[in-house]
Amino acid sequence: MRDVLPGREPVPPDGTMGVPQARGRFGEYGGRYAPESLVEACREVDEAFRAAWADPGFRGALARLLAVYAGRPTPLTPAHRLSEALGVRLYLKREDLTHTGSHKINNVLGQALLATRMGRRRLIAETGAGQHGVATATAAALLGLEATVFMGERDIERQALNVFRMRMLGAEVVPVTAGSRTLKDATSEAMRHWVGATGDSHYCIGSVVGPDPYPWMVREFQRVIGDEARGQCAAELRTGVPDHVVACVGGGSNAAGTFAGFADTPARLVGVEAEGGAGAARGRLGVMHGCRSLFLQDDDGQIIQAHSIAAGLDYPGVGPEHAHLRDLGRARYVTVTDDEAVGAAVRLARTEGIVPALESAHALAWVIRAAGDGDLPAGSTVLMTLSGRGDKDASTLKELL
Ligand SMILES: *Cc1c(COP(=O)(O)O)cnc(C)c1O
Repeated sequence: MRDVLPGREPVPPDGTMGVPQARGRFGEYGGRYAPESLVEACREVDEAFRAAWADPGFRGALARLLAVYAGRPTPLTPAHRLSEALGVRLYLKREDLTHTGSHKINNVLGQALLATRMGRRRLIAETGAGQHGVATATAAALLGLEATVFMGERDIERQALNVFRMRMLGAEVVPVTAGSRTLKDATSEAMRHWVGATGDSHYCIGSVVGPDPYPWMVREFQRVIGDEARGQCAAELRTGVPDHVVACVGGGSNAAGTFAGFADTPARLVGVEAEGGAGAARGRLGVMHGCRSLFLQDDDGQIIQAHSIAAGLDYPGVGPEHAHLRDLGRARYVTVTDDEAVGAAVRLARTEGIVPALESAHALAWVIRAAGDGDLPAGSTVLMTLSGRGDKDASTLKELL
């Protein structure tokens, strides 16, 4: 199944998307840029994760939670009517059907289980729109852990429903009043808080960002998306592997997890960013939140605030492994506007009866555009990860439609 197919480009056996190089490097990106006490805490997480990931007992316990609680495996749905209209064969990996409605649950269950194994009794998390906060609060409730979620004051005002959800689940939501009072500041504050609480708390980062081992660990917890899809494609497609694998990119966790299942195949990997949050497509080298990666910056190196209609793509940077995949040419990164994403969400709703999250609609918007302009040749097979469901975006869409 993993052989190179006839008539396709051979895949270099370079171990892409394996274990990172020494000191958590992906090429020139990654690393562990943190105060001394957090370097030590990250080292402990790294050691615990390596041991857990090599332990069939841990893997089995996580697989069971994913099955009996999160609803895995998620289906691979052929998008029949839309495929016909676009002239390609589009398959959707349905992360929208998981418990809590997005891929974020895969990561938080992994980290919560790891925290338990490390003897921690509390999870610390940052959240922007509240999606990762809700997922963390969910996993904490399930495993009997406390949860403290840092959230910018502006986001708290904008996302009242998710704030209520977190409190309903028993989490403490801490308002962050610094800076722009949004995700970037909440992340800085969560890291600062962890410095004083490393003994009893695990910092549960929500994407493939932050200091080593987080980018690698979160990708491994999301790999289940790509591994499942790989098996499902093998059963569904004559060629076994789709021509293109597409996912939206905020920090990049659903894309990384999806890509990981296909890194050793000839499939072309495409990450779709928001026009106003294009860290991989337009970022410059910098260091933020513990790692070296690509960030949107002005000429003085100040981080530029990201803007996207999709809250989950509203991050000015991208995970270090995506920066590396871009440099290697193994994945390409493209951007989509707010309007294109809204149009794609409506189209999916009306052709397939699926209302996608606006984040996921970005990936679809690129598929629609690329099928139209020949970037996706007629008859191509496309696997797209549908990272989440659109219920959370109903009020945004209601204003526009
Ligand atoms: C948070 C979120 C994203 C963006 O996060 P990644 O780490 O890039 O995957 C995408 N889609 C949905 C539905 C989300 O909730």
